[in-house]
Amino acid sequence: MNPENTESPESDEPSEALLAIRAKSILTLGGEGPARAARLFAPLKKIDNGVLLVRDGLVEDVLPWSQAKLPAGTLVRDVGAVCLAPACVNAHTHLELSHLAEKTRWGRGFTAWLQSLIPLLGAAPQADAVESACATLALYGTLYVGNITGSLPGGTVLADAACNEAGLTASHFCEWFGFGAPFADGERPWPPRCRQALADDPFLMARCAPGGHALYSTGPEILSAARQDCSRMGRVFSFHLAESPEETQLLTSGSGPLRDLYAGVVLPPDWSAPGLRPLAYAVKLG
Ligand SMILES: [Zn+2]
Repeated sequence: MNPENTESPESDEPSEALLAIRAKSILTLGGEGPARAARLFAPLKKIDNGVLLVRDGLVEDVLPWSQAKLPAGTLVRDVGAVCLAPACVNAHTHLELSHLAEKTRWGRGFTAWLQSLIPLLGAAPQADAVESACATLALYGTLYVGNITGSLPGGTVLADAACNEAGLTASHFCEWFGFGAPFADGERPWPPRCRQALADDPFLMARCAPGGHALYSTGPEILSAARQDCSRMGRVFSFHLAESPEETQLLTSGSGPLRDLYAGVVLPPDWSAPGLRPLAYAVKLG
């Protein structure tokens, strides 16, 4: 770096300089918690005429402008009559299935929805639908995406490219669907549909973590192996948990509409219900 430039805020900010971003209002989301029913519509706490203090790309503080004590040399940017808010995180989406939007059956319960989805899973992912979904996410303020992948061949590469194009940072959860454990000892438990793409691109692999589909659709030893791999690699482990009353019924009693749908197709012939509710079963598996 040219040392002559370090003093000039217009060109190259010195790394220790404090940046103060002033705005008409700031939503910090500090102190907010999960909400239900009417509380969902309660106004979020906001700071009017606020300032966000940033150093080295990290937020140091957020407070009313009147309370800010700015050291000499602080670079002040007044962004005017806008509301600043933290970026949105979509923690769970299936980008490669974007072309199926509006095509599945809603309002008749989980099993009916699943029955309408399964026949649609044969087609390849569609680049234009994935790109459009990513552009929409970015348009509504999303910066980070947890993308479930492994349902369709080529889906991971397509979703990763579309996220990159839209300016989204993606973590991909490679979802293993099915029972049986076709991976060798010492091998990482990547689902078969993701293996080639990850072997071809170690940088893509670094953005991926092995995950499961659900307690009733992924073998318990696969879930455990994926969970352990995520712990070892410092990655988030992801699977669908306690999504529907049908799941609880299947796991506790071994019966119900999900059993009818999956018996002989997904569930192995010797499968028996663990006799536990979903969370208790997940805890038991570690
Ligand atoms: Zn999902």
